[in-house]
Amino acid sequence: MTINKDFFDPERSINYDLQTSGRSPEAWTDAARAAERFVPTHCSFCGVQCAMYLRVKDGQVIGVEPRNYPHSRGSLCPKGVVAYQQANHPDRLRYPMVRRNGTLVRASWDEALSFVVGRWQAIQAEHGKDAVAIYSGSSMTNEKCYLMGKFARVALGTRYIDYNGRLCMSSAAGAYEKAFGLDRAAIPMPDIPLADVILVVGSNVAECFPVAMQWIWRARDRGARIIVVDPRETPIARTADLWLPIRPGGDVALLNAILKILIDDGMVDEKYVRERTNGWDDVRAAAGQFSLEETERITGIPVHRILAAARLYGSARTSLIMHARGIEHSSHGVDNCLACINLALARGQVGKPGGGTMMLTGQGNGQGGREMGQKAAQLPGYRHIDDPDARRYIAGVWGIPEPELPGAGVSAPDMVRLMANGTIKSCLVMCSNLMVSLPDNAVVERALDNLDPLVVVDFFMSETAERADVVLPSAVWCEDEGTTTNLEGRVVRINQAAEPPGEARRDWEIACDLARRLGRGEFFTFQSAREIWDELRVATKGGIADYSGITYEKIDAQDGVFWPCASEDSEGTPRLFTERFAHADGRARMIPVTYRPPAETPGGDFPFYLTTGRVVYQYLSGNQTRRLAFLNSQAPDPWVEIHPTAAGRLGIPNEDVVRVRTPRGAMELRALVTPTIRPDTLFIPFHYGHRQAVNQLTNAAVDPMVRIPEFKCCAATIEKLGAPSAAASKGATENLTAANAPAIFPYQVAPPAARPVEERTAH
Ligand code: SF4
Repeated sequence: MTINKDFFDPERSINYDLQTSGRSPEAWTDAARAAERFVPTHCSFCGVQCAMYLRVKDGQVIGVEPRNYPHSRGSLCPKGVVAYQQANHPDRLRYPMVRRNGTLVRASWDEALSFVVGRWQAIQAEHGKDAVAIYSGSSMTNEKCYLMGKFARVALGTRYIDYNGRLCMSSAAGAYEKAFGLDRAAIPMPDIPLADVILVVGSNVAECFPVAMQWIWRARDRGARIIVVDPRETPIARTADLWLPIRPGGDVALLNAILKILIDDGMVDEKYVRERTNGWDDVRAAAGQFSLEETERITGIPVHRILAAARLYGSARTSLIMHARGIEHSSHGVDNCLACINLALARGQVGKPGGGTMMLTGQGNGQGGREMGQKAAQLPGYRHIDDPDARRYIAGVWGIPEPELPGAGVSAPDMVRLMANGTIKSCLVMCSNLMVSLPDNAVVERALDNLDPLVVVDFFMSETAERADVVLPSAVWCEDEGTTTNLEGRVVRINQAAEPPGEARRDWEIACDLARRLGRGEFFTFQSAREIWDELRVATKGGIADYSGITYEKIDAQDGVFWPCASEDSEGTPRLFTERFAHADGRARMIPVTYRPPAETPGGDFPFYLTTGRVVYQYLSGNQTRRLAFLNSQAPDPWVEIHPTAAGRLGIPNEDVVRVRTPRGAMELRALVTPTIRPDTLFIPFHYGHRQAVNQLTNAAVDPMVRIPEFKCCAATIEKLGAPSAAASKGATENLTAANAPAIFPYQVAPPAARPVEERTAH
């Protein structure tokens, strides 16, 4: 079927289904419908940023309609369909609150902001500028992310700002920066069907990015093979040609072993490696760290499956590695991503349509949020804050002397440590829910309780806002305009459909008001998001992430613009690295990585691996989706997945309430006994708060380069309630491996017979 670009026409209110079913559109276009307005925008949730129309009537957002766009083609997943319900939700925060006698009570904006500014000025006078911090978010528009970076450095003069993207993508960002000199997916999603083989490493694509799956299915329809590396048999793994049920934390060992097979079998593109990369000799030497048998012991994947995967991947004319949090949430997350990149470079794939590597950015504006200057050591345009030229340029744009610009701060987890030890005395949390999203959250609780004041800006009462001294009500995404940058690097436009309810304000209005009260109003005179955008464009000009040539009008005209876009004449850059990489010499860096075990491995009283992840019906900390009735009805509580063999040994029936413990804490929840997980591994989704938060249990160990926490691997035990608590599951995983229990993994062990691969053309 050919999809008509204009299959939904908001002018005429004609629905595609009615057109094709032959019924009269007039029958459907009644007076009430005609009174509606249709606002083109994009989903508020994940990094795909699917396009949609919001239906607006009498100033209220009342529904959603499909909107065609090159990357989402009119599709929405269950979250996108109900995203609009946030706007009129009864739980919306409608007025500021200040804690008095232990209780949050209503206050005026003037009372709340005066209190905050008074405290900040007193704290900074006594303890210095850095005693106040900003913890920002990446689900906000580029304009707001940019403004928070400027607010921290110019209004507060603090070095301490970081954001929740640190917990999400920072290892992929660090690896791409090192290897390619630029942190962005190299190809747009419509290129995916050009791949002959897609190797998905650590991504539950179908649940986390449902609308992106259409491009993988298109590739498969054209003959592409799919290999999935995951400890769980996720939905995409169930239909893959080859599933590698990896033991959590074994990724570098596996990827290096695949590289060694490519080398031994003569599958390396020597010409490409020679002409376009540096560092191959060191990478080649590191690839032989383990024999295949040792790799099997580390990863739990039988040798024959490793061989099958390597030969399938290595023989493809065009191959794409897609990766996400499964390998990025690791104390060696950067190495994991570099190992993927080494494979793709060795095969000569990066810079080729449909080939290379593709990181799957999680948050709605996870890509743009990490380019706008709200990272600890970053200025707008992906400039480094310790680069003298960058400092001079940005100080000039902001109109301050360069020495006034603070230096680098520290990562989000390290800021929490500084809160816990009293170095940071107050923090403004913008659009983030630390109490659910950071590991080992008993420590987070103590850190937040140390702050005086903790100030939270949000539109729903989050687990973090519950602990705040001041809560400031903000707008949801459809109550403001601006831009986001999706996981492809495509900048899209968010349009305003309604006004914020009650006394709620847009985030940028709150920041500008605070700046004025801090005596820095002259630097924050913005009257609209568009004015912030215009300054942002200048600030990013000449940076790695150059947005200077992108206008709101160009975004509308082109269905999004890919950065870098350095002039208004440029259409942007959908495909990167076709001729050269972003390093000064134009060559990619191949960087050797060696296997290091996870920071905590099972043993003794904690015999299982515990890993965490998402489900399709919830988003991030769940503060939004747990309030949307349909979504929450499908996944109202967390559960722990356990393999039937392990459950049988422990006498745990399906749906029994169990206790899962790690060295940091324990939680009680229902067991889901399922063969879709490794027998030595437990899985708990992370979208829930309070005693249902799995981050009570996770390990706070971080990657040494980018400081991303190791959410995906720690040691755990599971026990029936009422069972003796000490080491109840000790021995439960003995002799349960992928290699010696083939009946537990009744899946493909070799690639299926060759199917013809169609000649592929770009979309
Ligand atoms: Fe929204 Fe992501 Fe679902 Fe698209 S795939 S509708 S962007 S949550």
